[in-house]
Amino acid sequence: MTGRWAPSPTGEFHLGNLRTALLAWLFARSANTELVWRFEDLDGAVRNDFYDLQLRDFRRIGLTWDGQVFRQSERLNLYREAIEDLKRQGLTYRCWCTRREIREATVAPHSHLPEGAYPGICRRLTAKAISENERSGRNPALRLMSEGQLIQIEDHQLGDFEGAVDDFVLCRGDLTPSYNLAAVIDDHDMGITQVVRGDDLLPSTPRQVHLFNLFGTQPPRYAHVPLVLSESGNRLAKRDGAVTIDDRVALGESELDILNHLLSSLGLPKVGSFDELNRVAHDFQPSALPTSPWVFDL
Ligand code: GLU
Repeated sequence: MTGRWAPSPTGEFHLGNLRTALLAWLFARSANTELVWRFEDLDGAVRNDFYDLQLRDFRRIGLTWDGQVFRQSERLNLYREAIEDLKRQGLTYRCWCTRREIREATVAPHSHLPEGAYPGICRRLTAKAISENERSGRNPALRLMSEGQLIQIEDHQLGDFEGAVDDFVLCRGDLTPSYNLAAVIDDHDMGITQVVRGDDLLPSTPRQVHLFNLFGTQPPRYAHVPLVLSESGNRLAKRDGAVTIDDRVALGESELDILNHLLSSLGLPKVGSFDELNRVAHDFQPSALPTSPWVFDL
């Protein structure tokens, strides 16, 4: 088995990210498996200094990863080959829709499609509309032609989940491969068998499992974990206050205090030193983890 931690270097980690990182580490280490670090850096909001800051903050709370650090931006050929493969199979179509057009198109209320699902507008274009779009000079995105397949997932933490697959984007108009495509290609290529990540990504998981099925490969086991919320009930964010390691250290906490705070929030025993984390991993029981989000009281 191999686990992974796949952050986007678009900011410093806050306690919510670090708590999910700790869980990814605990799942991997408790099973005596490796943890791969992969930067999902295909997003426009990536900033150069965040790569090192994220690696540093992960180490500061006693966590470790194995082997080289991957960057998706260095693996574009792999994603493009996979996209060409799907194109050759006749499973793709071009889409010129703007975000606004998609937002305004309604998905049938009885549909199993996830929120924000694409309702297939460009799949039904006439030849005339296609040539007008081609002449517009706008670069089309490439979408997967799916049939709304219902996908069942047995999530390690959340149990059974079912969701439908929409015609999601494989490659954006600026030729950047999409998150779903790149994540699946990487999880397969890196031999990832266990994915631990925030439960905000659960709605995208059927799309990913569908891609694994199309490529004839086995999806990993998923464990979606509850996010950390601020007192207002929203997902914790930097604007909520002192939520990064640097912020907490400035308030007088040590890195070990921060780790212990995260451990307690998971119902796990505190440690007297970073070395003791191995003992926590040894005794780690995912089934005993809290199932509701942790509300962080600043
Ligand atoms: N890169 C995503 C994030 O930072 C995580 C994606 C994943 O774990 O599949 O939210």
